[in-house]
Amino acid sequence: MRYFYLLIILCLIACGQNASLPTPIVDSIPTATASLIPPTLSPTETLIPAVTSTPLPTVKRVMIISFDGLRPDAIQAAEMTNLLSLMQNGAYSLTAQTILPSLTLPAHSSMLVGTCPAKHIARWNEYVPENGYALGTDIFDLAKAAGLRTVFVAGKEKLRQVTEPQSTDFFGFVDATDKIEDKISLETMAIEEIRKGFDLMFLHFPDGDLAGHKDGWMSRQQLLAYLLDDKSLGLILDVLKSRNLYDDTLFIITSDHGGHDSTHGTDLLEDLTIPWVISGPGVIQKQLETQVHIMDTSATVAFALGLPIPPEWDGSPVYEVFGLPVDPLRTGGCTGTP
Ligand SMILES: [Zn+2]
Repeated sequence: MRYFYLLIILCLIACGQNASLPTPIVDSIPTATASLIPPTLSPTETLIPAVTSTPLPTVKRVMIISFDGLRPDAIQAAEMTNLLSLMQNGAYSLTAQTILPSLTLPAHSSMLVGTCPAKHIARWNEYVPENGYALGTDIFDLAKAAGLRTVFVAGKEKLRQVTEPQSTDFFGFVDATDKIEDKISLETMAIEEIRKGFDLMFLHFPDGDLAGHKDGWMSRQQLLAYLLDDKSLGLILDVLKSRNLYDDTLFIITSDHGGHDSTHGTDLLEDLTIPWVISGPGVIQKQLETQVHIMDTSATVAFALGLPIPPEWDGSPVYEVFGLPVDPLRTGGCTGTP
């Protein structure tokens, strides 16, 4: 009899639980994706058509790498094998677009602040401390507010003006243009920060751009500079692997602008077209159909880290890289750019 009552009690508990559970809309929504839902979109708008039985793996940290001035056609020409390997294992576009003016500081501001120049207003391209910082909530602001450790390693001092000092736990630069001999290399600086631990790191290689201004875009000298930068990338990837940090790191490798002759900054497609490569947890292998814009970098990083995307951002996550449908609210580039 005792067992009978026990059975009745168990049945009541089970029935009660069933009565209180809402009917699942789609019972195979992967729970791991819940933290990846951007706060500006409801789950029904984004996830239901994309449900798969495989949960998205967790992104533990993000590394954004910018090869200054890198045209998509330079990747093969310079035999950047480490970047090519990330492309083959991830998703990529070779027709992503930067902003106008296609210059280093304005473009990196759009990449990392997530907005067009009309909003971040950093249209100057020298280190001008009295101008302050690019306006708006950037990806470092978001990450810092969430308690993440942020690192910014730059090959040009002017990139300090992309984000405020309080938004980066570490900011370091090695600027070959300031005529001061630096005692540390960019990759050594980055490796030291990997050793300390990071959640979001931005790493900028200036060498290809400097060679382009000196010897021309796609010149033998510029391609050699990109080849050497790619070897530095390989070294950094090896350090991540040796510390078991590689598999749960999301990488975005891109550029700020292309170039033609020995300059850039114009609305020529050679100046505006940049590579955009993403590799890491949850990223599917494909050449992207989405038209990627440089502002989408921040939004994709925020999405992957589960950070709230500011409504004023002009970029949006490139959902296609995670096998999700394209955001129907996606608007595209900035006024004045293709
Ligand atoms: Zn540049």
